[in-house]
Amino acid sequence: MNDQSERMRAIKEEVLNLTGSPLYEERIRTMAYPVIGEGSHEARVMFVGEAPGRNEAETGRPFCGASGRVLDQLLQGIGLDRKAVYVTNVVKDRPPENRDPTAEEIALYGPFLDRQIDIIQPAVIATLGRFSMAYLLRRFDLEAHLATISKIHGRPHEARVPYGTVTIIPLYHPAVAVYDRTRFDELLNDFKKLLSYV
Ligand code: URA
Repeated sequence: MNDQSERMRAIKEEVLNLTGSPLYEERIRTMAYPVIGEGSHEARVMFVGEAPGRNEAETGRPFCGASGRVLDQLLQGIGLDRKAVYVTNVVKDRPPENRDPTAEEIALYGPFLDRQIDIIQPAVIATLGRFSMAYLLRRFDLEAHLATISKIHGRPHEARVPYGTVTIIPLYHPAVAVYDRTRFDELLNDFKKLLSYV
């Protein structure tokens, strides 16, 4: 196993044993899985959602339910293979009843995402929804650029990272197009901006 896979495996082990998490007991009670992430460890494009939903916690795979189908259609719409990108979330365990993740949960799981970014070293990170947008803009000292997602979606922000620079692009969460297909084209328009980093 190469060094990248080794470091990813270590993250998985640590999350599996995260007994101090407020979401741990519920994971065990419901026989759910944590969702670490999926895709290429060489990806230039990384997608970061919020937290696993029911389908994701049942399978251990990110974005495999209704929002995942929209994500797949968006990727197809810009000709990006899902296997060539990396998809993960800020919070790795499912919050009960799909409630919003708490600040405590984001603070607990965020460092695992930081480590995944260090391992993959993407050129661009597309945040999906307001929680990953806020976490990563703060994490990369871009808090001054934080605004509502309706104001800053599709706008690139450059950040310095130990491996060089990374561009953060806040995107709407694919869930917005699950019940309102008129939002799909707006999302697709933003997704097209990712192509200049591939
Ligand atoms: N919503 C998310 O934010 N992440 C998933 O993995 C699935 C739905």
